Amino acid sequence: MSKIKLPKNPGQTGWKEILPKRKVNNQLIENINIDYLIIGGGFAGLSAARRLNQINKDAKIAILEACEIGEGPAGRNSGFMIDLPHNLASDDYLGSLEKDREQTLINRSAIQFAKSTSEEYEMPSEAIQLVGKTNAAATKKGINFNTEYAKHLDKTSESYKILDTQEMKDLTGIDYYINGLWTPGTAMLQPALYIQSLADGVSKHSNVTIYENSPVIDLIDEGMHDGEKIWKAKTKMGSISSSKIILAVNGMVERFGYFENRLMTIFTYSSMSRKLTSNESNILGGSQKWGLTSADAMGSSVRRISGIGGDRILIRNRWSYNPNMEASDLFMRSAATSHSSSFNARFSSLDNVTMEYCWGGRLCLSLNNVFAQGEVEEGVYSACCQNGLGTAKGTAIGIITAEKISGAISSLVPNFVDEEAPKKLMPKAIMWAGVNAYLGWKELMAGKEK
Ligand SMILES: Cc1cc2nc3c(=O)[nH]c(=O)nc-3n(C[C@H](O)[C@H](O)[C@H](O)COP(=O)(O)OP(=O)(O)OC[C@H]3O[C@@H](n4cnc5c(N)ncnc54)[C@H](O)[C@@H]3O)c2cc1C
Repeated sequence: MSKIKLPKNPGQTGWKEILPKRKVNNQLIENINIDYLIIGGGFAGLSAARRLNQINKDAKIAILEACEIGEGPAGRNSGFMIDLPHNLASDDYLGSLEKDREQTLINRSAIQFAKSTSEEYEMPSEAIQLVGKTNAAATKKGINFNTEYAKHLDKTSESYKILDTQEMKDLTGIDYYINGLWTPGTAMLQPALYIQSLADGVSKHSNVTIYENSPVIDLIDEGMHDGEKIWKAKTKMGSISSSKIILAVNGMVERFGYFENRLMTIFTYSSMSRKLTSNESNILGGSQKWGLTSADAMGSSVRRISGIGGDRILIRNRWSYNPNMEASDLFMRSAATSHSSSFNARFSSLDNVTMEYCWGGRLCLSLNNVFAQGEVEEGVYSACCQNGLGTAKGTAIGIITAEKISGAISSLVPNFVDEEAPKKLMPKAIMWAGVNAYLGWKELMAGKEK
């Protein structure tokens, strides 16, 4: 019987569907012993594997991933690997100046790691591009958010550029936005391409074996052997025993019995259009590739992509808090409707273009915006809770955890200091009602930014 219940990933992720088919690694069908076991093949798990291999070339490392690489949240996100703090739980993304400086250095270490990995593994250039991103405003309220953001960036001596209405139109081809704030340090990912290339690079270039479609259904304490506690991770058809385990499963760590009632599983949703024809691309105008986060934290992220999967538009909006880790079909339909109406409001010149894919995915937040990390039992380390910015923060905590578990002396993320633990939540029913009411209200208030 499965002790650890696995949630579904709702809808087909367009990012993965538009890529050529990749060779999926085998399931685990044997019982083996290894030096390090990583559970979860997202940003945290794969970055941890690469870092462990850098530290100890001879160590035998395995990753158990519940589904195919790129099918989970790591291949479902909008691909903004943001260097600056981006606190989803705050109205305007901002925190204290000191905390923001620390967080920026951590995120930048992660982006540097991802970029150098992409070069070493010769990933296609579309997988990760250091081109910056624009915080877009469609309303006066949005401009006020950007103005406050600019003041904050001045205080931290970060560079940025304000874009006026014409410059926003030149970039996007549409009249919708009246102001933008561009910052240079964000890396833009094709998330499924990046995460699959990372997985394939890690297994090709290092002593790491990845098992896909191999969910861990139980983690058993096997007692002490030669002075070390041994853990056995069981899958349906096999098992891996190791004295060193990294849990890189984001919010799912609760189902392994850790950080219970301290983490919030939030879903957000995306749709991707069908391929634009060359005529439609010409009519739209603007640049062929751009990425906008919204000046309002509850607004839409919008991207135009142009590459392996064609020229397409991506819209991400809507949030729901689902403590049971399942998004309902009803909410999926409502998110799809919301994406279509956000698309139609922005792209009136593309009135025949429909959405080809719609999906949702899990994020993990803590009330105090901290990781769920560190040694949770002898030999078991958690690298979880990325607070919505998992592309950068997941990468960073994967590196940090690999360094901790292997006792590495020098760190690629030198600015990290252990944070306090995630704060306890109120009872789930109260949280469910409160958080969903709050999200619904904030989405309503986002108005045209959504
Ligand atoms: C629509 C959407 C848009 C987003 N946009 C952005 C964005 O633009 N920028 C950004 O930074 N973040 C974004 N995010 C969040 C980001 O995707 C996550 O924060 C990130 O994927 C977390 O990385 P991770 O490696 O910690 O966890 P995950 O990517 O969730 O990886 C954990 C892996 O563990 C596996 N797993 C779980 N349980 C088990 C088990 N029992 N056995 C084996 N494997 C298991 C899962 O299948 C999963 O693949 C977005 C998320 C969504 C859904």
